[in-house]
Amino acid sequence: MGSDLSSAPNCFEPLSADPLTVVLIGPGGVGKGTLARRLVAGDDRLWLSRSWTTRERRPGEHGDEYHFVDRATFQDAIDEGRFLEWAEFHGNLYGTPLPDAPDEADVLLEIEVQGAEQVRARRPDAVVFLILPPSMERLKERLRTRGDDDEHIVDRLSSAPAELEKGHQLASHVIVNDDLQRASAQILSILEELRQLRRNPSTKD
Ligand code: 5GP
Repeated sequence: MGSDLSSAPNCFEPLSADPLTVVLIGPGGVGKGTLARRLVAGDDRLWLSRSWTTRERRPGEHGDEYHFVDRATFQDAIDEGRFLEWAEFHGNLYGTPLPDAPDEADVLLEIEVQGAEQVRARRPDAVVFLILPPSMERLKERLRTRGDDDEHIVDRLSSAPAELEKGHQLASHVIVNDDLQRASAQILSILEELRQLRRNPSTKD
C-alpha cells in the first residue's frame, strides 16, 4: 500500500475545508428560530438541525419546529448516545441529535447556553453567535406575541441575565437582532469570510 500513488490526492485539486458548526444562542424570545430559518433560506450550504424536546407544543406551532417526544423516549435517546448535546431548560429537555447533514454542509444549531458549552467542548472550532434583543422591553413583547403565558414570560426573563453572561463568554460574535434582514446579512457575511479563510488560510492577517 505504501508506494501506491493511485490513491494519493490530486495535488491540483483544491482541498475541501471541514464543514462549519454554527451555533445561535441567546435568551428565549430573541428571535433565534426565525433567524435560523432565514439563514438557511439565504444560504444553501447551511443545514438546520431539528432538535428534540419534551415540552408541549405552543399554540401556533406547526409541529415541525421540533421533534416532540415524551421524557421516556428522550431518556432512551440519551442512554443510546444519540445526542450531540442535550440540556434541561425551564423543566423541559432539549437536545440536538448527532447531525445527519449532507457531506460538506455547514451545520446550524439553535440552542441554549448549556448545550452550546457542550458543543464547544466537543467541537472547539464551533462558531457561536450570541443573539441579543434590542432591549428587554422588546424581548418581553416578543415572548408575549409568540403565545407564552405570564408565568413563562417571568421564568424566561428571570433566566435571561445568566444566559447572557454565559453567552458572552461562549460567543465568537455578538449580533443585535433589531432587524431580521440586517442580523441575517451580518451572520451570512461572517460565515462567508470564515469559509474563505478555511479554503485559503494564507489570507488571514
Ligand atoms: P423554546 O421552548 O422557546 O422553543 O426553547 C427554549 C430554549 O431551548 C431556547 O433557548 C432554544 O434555543 C433552546 N433549544 C432548542 N433546541 C435545543 C437543543 O437541541 N438543545 C439545547 N440545549 N437547547 C435547545
